[in-house]
Amino acid sequence: MAKEIMTEKVVRLMSKTDRIRNIGIAAHIDHGKTTLSDNLLAGAGMISQELSGKQCFMDYDEQEQARGITINAANVSMVHTYEGNEFLINLIDTPGHVDFGGDVTRAMRAVDGAVVVACAVEGVMPQTETVLRQALKERVKPVLFINKVDRMIKELKLSPEAMQERFVKIIENVNKIIKRIAPDEFKTKWLVNVQDGSVAFGSAYHNWALSIPVMKRKNISFAEVIKAYDSEDWQKLFQKAHLSEVILDMVVKHSPSPAEAQKYRIPRIWHGDLDSSEGKSMLACDEKGELMMVVTKVIVDPQAGEVATGRIFSGSVKKGQDVFLNTVKKMYRVQQVSIYKGAQRISIDHATAGNIIGLVGLKEAGSGETVSNKETTTFEQIKHLFDPVVTKAIEAKNPKDLPKLIEVLKAIAKEDPTVSIAINEETGENLISGLGELHLEIWEYRIKKDKGLDIVTSPPIVVYREASLKKSPVVEGKSPNKHNKFYLYVEPLADSVYDAIKAGEVPEVRMKKKKDNIVEALVTAGMDRDTAKRVRSIKGGNVLIDESRGIVHIGEVIDMICESFEEVVAGGPLAKEPAIKLKVMLTDLKLHEDSIHRGPAQVIPAMRRALHNAMLYGEAVLYEPLQTLQIDSPLKYFGNVSKLVQNRRGQLISTEQEGDHLTVKAKLPVAELFGFTSALRSATEGRGSQSLIDQTFEKLPTNLQKDVILSIRKRKGMKEEVPQVREE
Ligand code: GDP
Repeated sequence: MAKEIMTEKVVRLMSKTDRIRNIGIAAHIDHGKTTLSDNLLAGAGMISQELSGKQCFMDYDEQEQARGITINAANVSMVHTYEGNEFLINLIDTPGHVDFGGDVTRAMRAVDGAVVVACAVEGVMPQTETVLRQALKERVKPVLFINKVDRMIKELKLSPEAMQERFVKIIENVNKIIKRIAPDEFKTKWLVNVQDGSVAFGSAYHNWALSIPVMKRKNISFAEVIKAYDSEDWQKLFQKAHLSEVILDMVVKHSPSPAEAQKYRIPRIWHGDLDSSEGKSMLACDEKGELMMVVTKVIVDPQAGEVATGRIFSGSVKKGQDVFLNTVKKMYRVQQVSIYKGAQRISIDHATAGNIIGLVGLKEAGSGETVSNKETTTFEQIKHLFDPVVTKAIEAKNPKDLPKLIEVLKAIAKEDPTVSIAINEETGENLISGLGELHLEIWEYRIKKDKGLDIVTSPPIVVYREASLKKSPVVEGKSPNKHNKFYLYVEPLADSVYDAIKAGEVPEVRMKKKKDNIVEALVTAGMDRDTAKRVRSIKGGNVLIDESRGIVHIGEVIDMICESFEEVVAGGPLAKEPAIKLKVMLTDLKLHEDSIHRGPAQVIPAMRRALHNAMLYGEAVLYEPLQTLQIDSPLKYFGNVSKLVQNRRGQLISTEQEGDHLTVKAKLPVAELFGFTSALRSATEGRGSQSLIDQTFEKLPTNLQKDVILSIRKRKGMKEEVPQVREE
């Protein structure tokens, strides 16, 4: 199909919200996501049939090709005909490696449906579960594609019955996750089902797929599939049941349109007033309503500059229009509106509700930004499953390059919010934090190669957390001028509330006005209603509660109080590491009558001192990050694997054996994980593999506390002492 005609069709369909499907493909690494995407694009005429499979269309990033794994979420708009009607499919590619899990989470905000790919031979693996969990949390409806069926036949030589048994097992495993994680109203509705065709199976490599309804309609049996492979005539399958046709039919039939999905997704991802004009526009996916768009990815294009890709939930946007960025609180002019064909961006006039598009010109937009016509409530912060826990110091080899390095680091933080950057322009120390060693290696490589900067990095450093173990007494904080006093205590936040914040069920916000839905979420998480109503700020898994009563001027200082709280939880008293699980109760305050004497220079230091002291009275300790890994290897290496885990302060959680295959789940401190991949390789003669299942924070063993605190303080240029309560 010629490029112009295709673009015209896409544009025509963009305003028919019942004819749009926004989907992502989610899979464990190597299960065939890239091969599937290629063949879907080829089927829709976006790349030539011969090239698909050979040409990695979605993996346009050179480095992705080199590593053979998908790193960036790229997206593409294509047209598919189903039962005589044309549909617009906006497909977002999502990476499978968990170190880049952030991309998956963000991509899920933009889509309404997910094709979960599971390899028929390996079945449901840790990342299959992780990505499915991320999809369900964003209220994205899954369908299932069981891939690599050719290997089941050729390598495993399974009978039709054995094949079906294996399918059933995979489907059961997927449904178990759906039942556990899907919101209550969808726990049964969203289960995937062979009979209704929300499950397909096939070979992305050989470009065919089937589902039970398709088999009935086209009169194809399992025996026939096996026969096709026995006689080396699998092309027949491709001709009879083309992969892209079967998968895209499944998507059109079983994934919701934006209009349908927004009805239940908006209340989950936007906490503004649903009766406001923005709320109503989004619930109706109304292209004539208020512009509401969320940015899910920012790529810095060498020619165009920042390209912000995102989903429009309501209204429309056109070239030349001024739009408001709600986090940076500024208007920007849209210079270009575009749709994607893989790496290629095509400029269009305007775009409407329900679509995934790119905007050029929004200079300061970062991932998660809310774009609108006027100031509005922002979308819920996009939650990443895991926080960055590994840091490296990064320096320019040539000091002359320092300003450029800072610029590059800022751009990275914008492109990848799972990277966090700390720039100290005074000391010249720049820190880059990510989800793991590999994640940081990828960025180092890019800084060197794409940005042409010569850099040196330190060995990786673990990022710890600070928390108080018990309730402190009420502590007083006096302002420098002694005219303002703040009284507060801290205590550990209930696990259920902390977990709800981490899971994104309670949003992390500063409470401006009373927000009923946040109060409800806190109550559901186990906080009593009166306390929940008094929450003023939620940040980094910590909560500030104002228990004071009858303070006349509190309205004028509450923002400063929140600011100080947010500053302390970003870097606590022990070693300026982020705090977690703190419940801060502001019990009383005394303010100077005259507002000149109760400005930020008075309030912030007083609150900071009180918070530091209260944390120390509450027995502040360091928490360390731990990762739960699944290790797969041949059984005979069991001894080596368990020794490896135990030598690194690790703990075996479970071991399972199937034939001569071993699956071990183990929990290890991140501090002991550096170089683990190569150690595992040598312990298993290259045959062991590992994947990340979960990340938690636990108290660092008491005998290590002092040394670790001192070494972090030393590294940060702080006084080398274990901090004590400081009275004035
Ligand atoms: P991704 O990591 O999920 O994107 O997986 P890829 O699409 O890169 O596939 C990983 C490997 O599996 C590649 O070598 C593919 O050629 C191969 N592969 C993908 N689909 C199939 C399939 O249906 N059958 C077989 N035999 N191999 C496949």
